[in-house]
Amino acid sequence: MAKIKKMCKAAKDGFKSNEDEILSEIRNAKFICKKCLRSASDKKLLCEPKKI
Ligand SMILES: [Zn+2]
Repeated sequence: MAKIKKMCKAAKDGFKSNEDEILSEIRNAKFICKKCLRSASDKKLLCEPKKI
């Protein structure tokens, strides 16, 4: 299973084979993207991360 690169990009592509990774990122989210309002556990997965 391919590791997702960015939640911001994954959001545009929708769920593909990486549904589990996306759901896990959202469940463990510690950062939110100020631009796209996506969340992730790792700030590297967001284009403009802000800690939540
Ligand atoms: Zn973003």
